[in-house]
Amino acid sequence: MTTPPLLSAQGLHVTFPGRQGAGPARAVDGVELDIRPGEIVALVGESGCGKSTLARALLGLVKPTAGRITHDGRPLDYSGRALRAYRRRVQLVLQDPSGSLNPRHTVYDAVAEGLRIHGHAGDERAAVADALSRAGLRPPERFFLRYPHELSGGQRQRVVIAGALVLEPKLLVADEPVASLDASVRGEILALLLRLRTELGLAALVVTHDLGLAWNIADRVAVMYLGRIVETGTVEEVLTSPRHPYTQALLSVLPEAPGTPQILTGEPPDPSRIPSGCRFHARCPALASGEAERAGVAKACRTTDPGILTPGTEAQSACHLSRTGAQPAY
Ligand code: SF4
Repeated sequence: MTTPPLLSAQGLHVTFPGRQGAGPARAVDGVELDIRPGEIVALVGESGCGKSTLARALLGLVKPTAGRITHDGRPLDYSGRALRAYRRRVQLVLQDPSGSLNPRHTVYDAVAEGLRIHGHAGDERAAVADALSRAGLRPPERFFLRYPHELSGGQRQRVVIAGALVLEPKLLVADEPVASLDASVRGEILALLLRLRTELGLAALVVTHDLGLAWNIADRVAVMYLGRIVETGTVEEVLTSPRHPYTQALLSVLPEAPGTPQILTGEPPDPSRIPSGCRFHARCPALASGEAERAGVAKACRTTDPGILTPGTEAQSACHLSRTGAQPAY
């Protein structure tokens, strides 16, 4: 039996007013996504694809225009008290630890802040020490009175993670959690996230543009393009046998990728002007190379939306060509 999701997005849309006379910007445009207890899901895509807006919606920081988010099977309640309780359970870890930490706050105060906001009734000092230890800052007392500028980048990110852990969440939403760190400490922070999953059963949504990072940490990958998830599956399925031409192009430009890199031309379209048919068709290498034509799907590519992927554990791709079973020859 499949474990019920801890967090679920169902038919989620987040639309912002258009700028300079443009139509509404559909930043998130019909997303279905499940995250199960203890599962690490990587949400991957180019910058501007809507992944950060989706993450903010999942955190309750942005209210969806349509659709819903459920947590432990119950719809997210946007009233003040319920939202505060929800944010204890689902914590955000931001990309830049320097920007997340107040330079005038000691490590102790930075980690204790969440406890104070939520009116923690227990032993604050013990909770802060425990969170710092779990984040790998040991002995924790040695860090209590230090300021962010006295720490390395990796230690600052561990303080940010400790600030999330102190509230005993069930899920972390980590937005590019290692993007601002040196290569030497990235592996340590990723290992920490994996250890927290093992020790605490902590689930995570890791938002990243980096497919290599997804490979190192995720159980499942969801690839996002222009407000939609266009491919999803286990990390092995998506990264070793990608079926969507967008995923194939992203993977082909990795340094270790075999074959010819597929350089995507142009920028992703403006979310206020999402093309008809497949939203990727103007940049699709399979359409440009004639592959879609030979498989008999080129007309559908330009006119028929491949649709919204349903949540589930099986590999899926929102692409007419991949549904024919054809392997791209480009
Ligand atoms: Fe390319 Fe057509 Fe697939 Fe879209 S549906 S990704 S245009 S082959």
